Amino acid sequence: MNAKKYVEKTFEEMKQRNDGQIEFHQAVEEVFKSLIPVFEKHPEYIENGILERIVEPERQLMFRVPWVDDNGNVKVNRGFRIQFNSAIGPYKGGLRLHPTVNLSIIKFLGFEQIFKNSLTGLPIGGGKGGSDFDPKGKSDGEIMRFCQSFMTELCKYIGQYMDVPAGDIGVGGREIGYLFGQYKRLKSTYEAGVLTGKGLNYGGSLVRKEATGYGLIYFVDEMLKGKGMSFKDKKVVVSGSGNVAIYAMEKAQQLGAKVIACSDSNGYIYDKNGIDLDTVKKIKEVERKRIKEYIKYHKDAEYHEEHRGIWTIQCDIALPCATQNEINEQEAKVLIENGVIAVGEGANMPSTLDAVNVFLQNGVLFGPAKAANAGGVAVSALEMSQNSMRYSWTFEEVDERLNNIMKNIYINTVKCAEEYGYKDNYVVGANIAGFLKVADAMLAQGIV
Ligand code: GLU
Repeated sequence: MNAKKYVEKTFEEMKQRNDGQIEFHQAVEEVFKSLIPVFEKHPEYIENGILERIVEPERQLMFRVPWVDDNGNVKVNRGFRIQFNSAIGPYKGGLRLHPTVNLSIIKFLGFEQIFKNSLTGLPIGGGKGGSDFDPKGKSDGEIMRFCQSFMTELCKYIGQYMDVPAGDIGVGGREIGYLFGQYKRLKSTYEAGVLTGKGLNYGGSLVRKEATGYGLIYFVDEMLKGKGMSFKDKKVVVSGSGNVAIYAMEKAQQLGAKVIACSDSNGYIYDKNGIDLDTVKKIKEVERKRIKEYIKYHKDAEYHEEHRGIWTIQCDIALPCATQNEINEQEAKVLIENGVIAVGEGANMPSTLDAVNVFLQNGVLFGPAKAANAGGVAVSALEMSQNSMRYSWTFEEVDERLNNIMKNIYINTVKCAEEYGYKDNYVVGANIAGFLKVADAMLAQGIV
């Protein structure tokens, strides 16, 4: 069968059997379109049904998560774990706790994770999980009881050689601690490598907290250097103010950039003097409050309701680090009118398909999430290595490994884009580079 027809047919079948899962369709469409030139070169992938198999999760789990709130009320949430692909290693991917979580969201994230994890060059398969539990406004005790209930079911399906969850939106060090404590209690074994993002005194890795943000900046820095530019004196806008955003801002500032705005789901702050990160860290990491608080400490700064307005600010580099589909076609056009030269995706799928096309057609340096935000999961894999060795590396050692991994992702992305006739299109380059390793492993392992 002709490559284009094969891709179109498989895409239509996927849509039909996953009716209404629009985010999942979106993630699949982007990857599938990039792969047409690969199938033209490699008919063996078609003959072995690689696409039909890669788009069907190996295992999908949905379960009840009952817990009791501080007032004694029984609450019920829905838990998910999608074990998407284990061709190159145990399933690996975060857990997201957010009210918008549903099967489509977890499947799009799990699908992306397959290719992202492959790009890191480390032996990790793709998976993702989470729940529609809303951590906002919950007490510490409620968070703990939820995590314990979630793990009571999840523990049956994970393990250091099977599936290794970590954090994502709504899951940081505190939640990983509660999840690990419950896993250890239920399994009566100290299996450090079952979760990543752990605290430093019980098997965590240095740089894991900073990894996604730092990795994003290392990747964008490579893109800029490739065109003879750098972060020095560039105006940068970063959406979000969670773990990814904070450490992207930190590294961008270290490289000489001026970060002028960041946001949360309520609104954004603009500080023409440059964002003061200590204040953001205090508000977000210590007090767990809203970003609006920032203007109490910095009188020159402005706060605007409606977080999407952040994309109207004039900047050289835009780093969407909040959530999926946070930049649409119109917002992409405004960024271009305002002279943006580079966009690096810190969040997963933050740009709609139309927005991506706008960036690519206008010659913007565009670092797609699978490549640009792979630093987090890469250091998770380094955490697994350290757990296996029962040893830990220094901050500098892990940071250097992360930097090298991001450089290699950039090199492979550029190489694949050129090889398949899409020079400077890092979306196609990253999708192909990530796909090839997984597809070849699937070929070698037979029809499973
Ligand atoms: N949630 C992160 C991601 O989207 C990290 C996953 C992990 O460390 O396993 O890649």
